[in-house]
Amino acid sequence: MDNAVTMPGSDLTTIFNQLSLIGARPGEGVTRLAASAEDGAARAVFAAWMAQGGARIVQDAVGNQFACFDSAGEGSPWIFAGSHLDTQPRGGRFDGTLGVLAAGCAALDLDSEIKNGRARPTHNLAVVNWTNEEGARYQPSLTGSSVFSGALPFGDALALRDGTGISLGDALAAIGVDGGTGRIPPRPEAYVELHVEQGRTLAEAGRRIGVIEGTWAARKMMVTWIGRAAHTGPTPMADRRDALLAAAQGIAAFEAVIAANHPHLHRSAARLVVEPNSPNVVVERATVWFELRGLDVAELDRAGEAALVAFRAAASGTGTRLEIAADALRPPANMDSQLMAIVDETARSCGFEPLAMRSVAGHDAVALQNSGIPSALIFIPSVDGIAHHPDEFTHPEDVQAGHTVLAAVLRRLVQGGFHAG
Ligand SMILES: [Zn+2]
Repeated sequence: MDNAVTMPGSDLTTIFNQLSLIGARPGEGVTRLAASAEDGAARAVFAAWMAQGGARIVQDAVGNQFACFDSAGEGSPWIFAGSHLDTQPRGGRFDGTLGVLAAGCAALDLDSEIKNGRARPTHNLAVVNWTNEEGARYQPSLTGSSVFSGALPFGDALALRDGTGISLGDALAAIGVDGGTGRIPPRPEAYVELHVEQGRTLAEAGRRIGVIEGTWAARKMMVTWIGRAAHTGPTPMADRRDALLAAAQGIAAFEAVIAANHPHLHRSAARLVVEPNSPNVVVERATVWFELRGLDVAELDRAGEAALVAFRAAASGTGTRLEIAADALRPPANMDSQLMAIVDETARSCGFEPLAMRSVAGHDAVALQNSGIPSALIFIPSVDGIAHHPDEFTHPEDVQAGHTVLAAVLRRLVQGGFHAG
């Protein structure tokens, strides 16, 4: 009966290679935007794979998928593990997907051990694929995990619109996610997520496993300058109110003011939407998505205020009107220290020397931790720190290390939880 552990169902490389093909184009990485046809295909493979391994598949109204192993019985507490299967446009194969699939493999192996009488569960286990973690097609990011944790009302989430006006609810319905199905597991006692680092800290420290203490905070602003559409030829220069010129000045002033006063904050203006976007029409509306990231919320407040001053100056200098469409602070998370200690100890027992570190990026584990669900985030190295790019890569030995530690942590939590410690 021991061969159950090595059945192809829990072979991480096989299932990972299968998922890597969905939404892939040669040289362009993987594009599986949330609630797209490609995301639907990935969800279907995940559900079929887990169902074949004996899991009960349910999904909630925002499309979060739960592969449930109810081996401890109804009424028992839950442990969750997972991540997300959506990607950025032309993204990498590992970001998110690895965390879901490694958790799936660990759950299948653990289930076999339980069925063979080699493990005795006190907790049920669900492998979770959270909807729209990336925030590429719909903002805010971390949508599914924020809905589950109660921070975002699900009606608000379903009403989010993408760049073409399609709501998340309609996009999900188009891939067959139309309302919740089945008994959704309750809030878990703990959540564990394995993710690639998307930075160079682990590689530079020569470590394979990172245990995340917490994350940076992020302030995300969506800013629109509103001018007036006019012919680019005959309209006298003095009459023009050019929203793109305002946005250009706003972007340059933002970088200058933050670089001068808060140089260690990570910052970007990474998306620009111009309307009507014709070479012959002075731009009427220009919308820019700005981000500031740092550890200190008070500093992000000051930097954000300085940015707003710069945006207003760009508006008044160009005769345009400024509209702040969104300005949201994601507070820094401190991950659960007791759970961190369990991950650290378990990783050591597997022969690794983990590095305690902070994550600059947000992850689903952060959304859950911020809502009071004790959560752990485990990192493995990314070659050259490349992320959100087709060249994203993690060496097989590092994937194996992460898989080993995640499986060991879940084996421990499912047999005794962590409050019981
Ligand atoms: Zn991710």
